[in-house]
Amino acid sequence: MKTSALGRIALAAGVAALTAGALPATAHADDSKVERKTLPVMVEFSDASFQDADAVKAGTPDTYFGTGKDSLASFFTEVSRGQYTTVPAVEEGVVGPVTLPMTAAGCDHNRINTLTREALAAQGLVMGEDYESLSVIFPAQKTGCAWAGLGSVPGPYTWINLYGTAGGLGVLGHEFGHNLGLGHQGRSMCTDGDLVDCTSNGTSAKSLMGGGGPAAGFSAPEMIRAGWLSGSEAVKVDASGTYTLRSLHGAGEGTRALDIPMGEDRLVVEYRHAAGTLDGAIEGVHAYRVPKGAYGSSSLIDMTEANKTLANDAATDADAITAVTDTASKVSVAVVSSGGGKATVKVSLDGEKLTSGPSAGKTTDANPAPAPAPEHTGSDTDAGDGAVDATEVRSGGSAPAEDTTDLAATGGGSNTAPLAATGTLLVAAGAGALVMMRRRRRA
Ligand SMILES: [Zn+2]
Repeated sequence: MKTSALGRIALAAGVAALTAGALPATAHADDSKVERKTLPVMVEFSDASFQDADAVKAGTPDTYFGTGKDSLASFFTEVSRGQYTTVPAVEEGVVGPVTLPMTAAGCDHNRINTLTREALAAQGLVMGEDYESLSVIFPAQKTGCAWAGLGSVPGPYTWINLYGTAGGLGVLGHEFGHNLGLGHQGRSMCTDGDLVDCTSNGTSAKSLMGGGGPAAGFSAPEMIRAGWLSGSEAVKVDASGTYTLRSLHGAGEGTRALDIPMGEDRLVVEYRHAAGTLDGAIEGVHAYRVPKGAYGSSSLIDMTEANKTLANDAATDADAITAVTDTASKVSVAVVSSGGGKATVKVSLDGEKLTSGPSAGKTTDANPAPAPAPEHTGSDTDAGDGAVDATEVRSGGSAPAEDTTDLAATGGGSNTAPLAATGTLLVAAGAGALVMMRRRRRA
């Protein structure tokens, strides 16, 4: 994996290297904890102010750094198992409100960012020295922004288009997930059992980046992208064999994911089970396609008709796999057993077509069909891996030409993220937040 933009920024700014790729594969949580110095800044416009600025100011430190389970810091501490969290860049936890010399209309997020950093510099607060992550919070009423939140992928910037007095974790955690290099996580329907002709359909619901809400945390490929699974926790499978998985989230030791070569792509397999505040509504073994090694752009491989989402009452294991075979790359995975916090999975890399259950692997396809041409069913083009040169944003001036309206209009299900003329990729908040926002706008 090439050096991420975030990595380049970290080096340029002389601060410790952060997140993806920075953590040694065998690192223990205690000696590799990243404390991301984060600066929430309340900004107002020449023609628009917060309806209750005092309440926003009073609540923001808790929202970002509090010890309550709904804070951004608590979320990251739990999902990273103590390897990553946000910490306040200033003693008060928040700066502002600062009035920017611009009107609200037009949702010019680039100008908002530039003017905010200028205002901070005037106060002696410098990016890369005093803070590593900048989260600009502004009143939504007149901006016309088509999103509730926006985040650079990866990068140090988030924008919160705030209705009310506090950004919810569903928006905040999602945007900060983009900052870690994560795109949106889609769902590939492969209901005929073959991975070569899947169709893209909505979001995975297995991640905060895929419409699953904060309680889904992140999926295994995203945890790999973030650098939060060690080499013994995310095992690179290079030979056929049988593996025991512990649940992806929660304390304890053991293998949490299988990272399997599948042609030019990777197949990542995880076992999900309730742990702490995470995965109360997700159970079973799930599989993801990682297109060309871009772990931040994976999509769920869904072989069932009953799509489990946050909004429906489908079974918690409705999207779990029993067996997956990709004839093109001769990869086959079958679940031997799953439940109670543990799963046993058999993997074949030599063309043997496995079937699920206690006899997994005993049945072979005696007359396999000719291998079809590989097809990339991973529809996610977020390309969060190194696609962004966030230094363009840092230098300011050059307004990203991207239009987030299309993305927002189709909700989190759209995996086509706008790529700015400057090379800066910005992705709006997920479907839930956007739906919520539209409802409020109609009200
Ligand atoms: Zn997003």
